[in-house]
Amino acid sequence: RNLKKYFPIRSDFWGRPAVYVKAVDDISFSVRRGETLGLVGESGCGKSTTGRTIINLYQPTAGEILFNGRSTASQPAQKQLRQSMQMIFQDPYASLNPRMTVGGIIDEPLVIHHPAPKAERLDRISELLKLVGLAPEYIGRFPHEFSGGQRQRIGIARALAVNPQLIICDEPISALDVSIQAQIVNLLERLQAELGLTYLFIAHDLAMVKHISTRIAVMYLGRIVEIAGSAELYSRPQHPYTQALLSAIPIPDPAAQSRRQPVRLSGDPPNPVNLPVGCRFRPRCSQAIKICAAAEPVLQETGPAHYTACHLHS
Ligand code: SF4
Ligand code: MG
Repeated sequence: RNLKKYFPIRSDFWGRPAVYVKAVDDISFSVRRGETLGLVGESGCGKSTTGRTIINLYQPTAGEILFNGRSTASQPAQKQLRQSMQMIFQDPYASLNPRMTVGGIIDEPLVIHHPAPKAERLDRISELLKLVGLAPEYIGRFPHEFSGGQRQRIGIARALAVNPQLIICDEPISALDVSIQAQIVNLLERLQAELGLTYLFIAHDLAMVKHISTRIAVMYLGRIVEIAGSAELYSRPQHPYTQALLSAIPIPDPAAQSRRQPVRLSGDPPNPVNLPVGCRFRPRCSQAIKICAAAEPVLQETGPAHYTACHLHS
């Protein structure tokens, strides 16, 4: 709720932080139990920072995070909270300790959160390996002995070890071969159904979240510019940025492709240190009107459970 995360990058003469990167700049959204909320935007838009702040890897600059209705800052049981929220990372290799066996990697969170006799933990590790589609015999092997997709399965098993409720998936398929991506998405969907999990699924393009998301939030330069149900967002995108992201996805049917108006997205996102006045998307927007240079648009209801931050829809 009204979450901000600013990183200081330069200090003044007195050593006080003077210039900030406004990585996350006042965003509010909810993730409902059992759903998958896709969080989409170009690199640097603040989506990973959002995930990391939710999971308490970063302290928010302002705003609050509520989990099951309670502020995570005021909750005394921080350890319990850390167990209820887990993260799956983009690079499954970098996030697995190369010197530890698969068994050791999955055992680590068990030792911290569920200290049980070793034999019991070994049973649990075998069960987790089977759950993610890996042979329990792999328990003594090292990360380098596995393919990218298998490593991501190990990362998922580690996240599941402590029975979390919410999993923040930070681009879990971006680094994988296209042929493997669908397998991991299918695995995540099966686990969600079996275990009643809730996902915040971070991705840099809309194609990756299309099938897995219940709802989708689009981020641009630290702000959420549009949020809607998945089908609604794909069929009636309202923000020019969402339209541009969608027009970059190839459609298998060439007739439909030619009917669709291509929206060009030129240039890089502006520097989050020197944000443009008015709408942050204005320097790249082909539909800008006069007010866009003067006032920053806010999220407003623009359709059924559909919210857009754009002056064209206010
Ligand atoms: Fe474009 Fe204006 Fe809408 Fe921003 S508010 S996306 S500049 S039309
Ligand atoms: Mg990222």
